Amino acid sequence: MRSKILILRFPEDLTHKALVCNLAKEYGLTFAILHAEIFPRKEGLLVLDLSGPASSFDEGVKYLKEMGVSVKTAAQEITRDEKLCIHCGACTGVCPTQALYIRRPEMYVCFDQEKCSVCELCVVTCPVKAMIVSPKNENFF
Ligand code: SF4
Ligand code: SF4
Repeated sequence: MRSKILILRFPEDLTHKALVCNLAKEYGLTFAILHAEIFPRKEGLLVLDLSGPASSFDEGVKYLKEMGVSVKTAAQEITRDEKLCIHCGACTGVCPTQALYIRRPEMYVCFDQEKCSVCELCVVTCPVKAMIVSPKNENFF
């Protein structure tokens, strides 16, 4: 599974096309729209929490880019300070994407950054402040 918050920018001629709906219809992806805006010059901005199987996710993003949509990841990423983490497991109970999970039987808390949607729930939950929000802004591909 892959889940990411994506920032999509649509040129004027694409703002009224149902491209995002095709992510569900053609690629089987699920999404939540976190923010949508049409600017005065008619370009569109959409912040999307997109999830699905990794290969379908990549195909869906490729489709958007081929249609002329600019696709970037969220401007922030979550990292873990390995020296601070005490593997208490508290963050695994709040992580909605299973980016944080317990490896048994060692009871080691793993962090799979690829699955992280940067929701920041772990940041406020971690008792030792091991989960950190860092700035990031890169093209998806
Ligand atoms: S809540 Fe913090 S200390 Fe506990 S396992 Fe998660 S990152 Fe580590
Ligand atoms: S920010 Fe933390 S809780 Fe949210 S998806 Fe990423 S690892 Fe999970």
